[in-house]
Amino acid sequence: QAKRLGGNTWHWFNDGLNKHALHEVSLRQQIHEALNLKQFQLFYQPMFGNDLDIIGVEALIRWKHPTRGYISPAEYIPVAERTGQIIPISEWVMEEAATMVAGLTEIGVPTISINLSPLQFHRHRLVERITSLLDGYQIQAGKLCVEITENVFLDDPQEAIKQLRELQNLGVVVAIDDFGTGFSSLSYMRDMPVDRIKIDRTFINGITASQRDAAITRGTLSMAHELGMDVVAEGVETEEQFNLLKSFGCTSYQGFWYSRPLSWDDLQNFTRSRNSGARLKV
Ligand code: C2E
Ligand code: MG
Ligand code: MG
Ligand code: MG
Repeated sequence: QAKRLGGNTWHWFNDGLNKHALHEVSLRQQIHEALNLKQFQLFYQPMFGNDLDIIGVEALIRWKHPTRGYISPAEYIPVAERTGQIIPISEWVMEEAATMVAGLTEIGVPTISINLSPLQFHRHRLVERITSLLDGYQIQAGKLCVEITENVFLDDPQEAIKQLRELQNLGVVVAIDDFGTGFSSLSYMRDMPVDRIKIDRTFINGITASQRDAAITRGTLSMAHELGMDVVAEGVETEEQFNLLKSFGCTSYQGFWYSRPLSWDDLQNFTRSRNSGARLKV
């Protein structure tokens, strides 16, 4: 098979491979520096209810690179997962999120969600770590939500289920992120210790134009509600989507229409202006 490739093709292929590897090596080095130089920040995207009240925030990591500006987590989280650097990154995220809870409560934000990586379940120390954070910062467990994707169940599903059950028993809220994009969503709803699902924004994006997306979203909402789970609609970008979702029985939302992910300073301003003018928009 290799023989049939022309010389140029081979060179091109080889080149591409090297570039990819180089990129990954340099990214790995830069992530290492970013951790040391404290270039990571948390941003907070509000989640909101039917009255446009803030019901919580999702913590989203931001990397302020000295020359490239903000780099999307989509670019380096997958690399960090391959190199194992997601562990120190996640450690930083959990600690930072925990330190923020008191301040968030003070400005009227009752809960915080963090994204967990599958690797965090491998160390078997996750529950202990979260317990000690809750204790150390005097955080009521119900104020914390952990968002996971189905990848968490790929390696050792029994272990992941066990740890999630323990988190649930503490009172931590367990959410399935990007719901509907995976392959076995229904069995999750049946078998997994899950309190909340977040319907992926690719469905929400289509609900006003596509009967199918609307039907899937409506069906998911009613199924989840019948199972006693909460539902958050992700990626709500327009008022039209919000109104339609509301008519489907949705009660929790997140998306650019309400707010983009905000720095702590901007979040403070946002809650301040909402508290003075929120009712007007209802
Ligand atoms: P996610 O957990 O599903 O986070 C939601 C993503 O959707 C965020 O992208 C957010 O900015 C974006 N988003 C929110 N509303 C809208 C909308 O209305 N329209 C559109 N087009 N996008 C919207 P972001 O911050 O770039 O994060 C991407 C992914 O990176 C996250 O997806 C999550 O999987 C991962 N990630 C982010 N922060 C962390 C972290 O601290 N730890 C881990 N392990 N992963 C993280
Ligand atoms: Mg998430
Ligand atoms: Mg999501
Ligand atoms: Mg997503």
